[in-house]
Amino acid sequence: MINKYIICMVNVSFINPFSDEARQIVREYGNLNTIYEENGDLIDTVIHSHSQDISDEESIPHNIVDLALKRLEWYVKKRNNPEFDYRKYAYLYKTNITRFDVIAFYLLVQAVSVKFGPNSRESRVMVESQGKLMESRMGELLLTEKKEITKTILSTLLPGEVNWTMFSELISSRKIKLTNLVLDHGNIILDRDDFLENLGYKLENRDPNKMYDLLIGDKIKELIINKMIMQKTEDYILKVYEKSQRQVEPNPILLELADKITEILNEPTVTYGYRGSSTGKVEALTLNPEAFPPCVKIVMEGMKSGGRNDAIILFLTPFLSYARLYPDVFRRNTTLRVSDVDPDLMAVEKEILPLIYHAAERCTPPLFEDQPQEKVNINAKMGFGMHSEIELKHEGETIWYTPMSCEKVKLHMPSLCKPDKTCKRIGNPLSYYVRRITDFRYDDSGEEHGKETREGHGKK
Ligand code: SF4
Repeated sequence: MINKYIICMVNVSFINPFSDEARQIVREYGNLNTIYEENGDLIDTVIHSHSQDISDEESIPHNIVDLALKRLEWYVKKRNNPEFDYRKYAYLYKTNITRFDVIAFYLLVQAVSVKFGPNSRESRVMVESQGKLMESRMGELLLTEKKEITKTILSTLLPGEVNWTMFSELISSRKIKLTNLVLDHGNIILDRDDFLENLGYKLENRDPNKMYDLLIGDKIKELIINKMIMQKTEDYILKVYEKSQRQVEPNPILLELADKITEILNEPTVTYGYRGSSTGKVEALTLNPEAFPPCVKIVMEGMKSGGRNDAIILFLTPFLSYARLYPDVFRRNTTLRVSDVDPDLMAVEKEILPLIYHAAERCTPPLFEDQPQEKVNINAKMGFGMHSEIELKHEGETIWYTPMSCEKVKLHMPSLCKPDKTCKRIGNPLSYYVRRITDFRYDDSGEEHGKETREGHGKK
């Protein structure tokens, strides 16, 4: 059957798994029992994908479940591993993977929905990975293909006039900023002719065509498609979750897949090099206050004079959270969220917040005694939005602040900076901590020391 969604050269469902065409693929696939069966067509498609590394058997998915897991693994490794090898996942960027990929997408969404629900790290990573995959795939298309598929998808996602209220969910969840969009009387302008007709005459001394390319062009259309499909993925997770709550028993195949998803997400992401370590990597450990820099030790004792709020909220909160969960943030230069490394938020609740609250209590006057609302700001600095409780569903509403540099400390809170000899070699209190904790554990020969600092420390 030829339908209107197969007009463009590239299969629409390569980008949009919610297209009619994708639904048709799902309908034709049949039941879930075959997803673990060796799939010759899939293997053939993968090994004949241009640039695909076929030397490593491990990188070839043999069935649909393998493909689903590879799809998530691609995102996690791409984000976390500086040695990410594109050639191991080249097939994910090729359009002929589409008919398998759509099934893998729905399997993943259903597995995370029934096992973890919408407010989980697994669901968040699923939505983010879908966004990144669409972006990478768009980047691989020829310009003509990209224009064609953008036009086709937009016409189905946004038929007719586009009012800004249609984007209220995307705006409130901060997927899109109102400032990204060009508005005319409440309507969002996406089409070149509409722009020239309604706004062109207002642009004095500027070429309206160039302004259209600058302000809207393909970039904004692709952004809208990407964010709308991410939102649809989120909505679908919620729908499947609600439905699963009314069922007696979730499908065991989905539960098994969900466990495998957690294994992929739990692969260590936080590592930092220890001088002399044979692997150069180690999992993050609980905090060692002995290794804190002088400035942090001062705040931990409680602020006795001015600068109390900034010292606890802007300085101590980012320091303690990164020191505990992601100490090599500056070396790795990869943005993570707290739940990427503390999925159940136990380290936040049992280790980080108690230390912050303790320091806040020791201030004169104690911080929360006269300003209990400042707890909200502490949560916000760890990325959990302006809420009184830390909850996964709010993660991402604000950013997880990185610790401020020594330069900033000296400028904004000079009374905290009492440098010792380690301070001469670092530019950030967090680097001080990593250096000291390394010294605690290894000597120049690479021998591990300070065992007492390791034993009894829960790992993350
Ligand atoms: S030099 Fe940096 S780490 Fe050392 S006390 Fe000053 S701010 Fe803290």
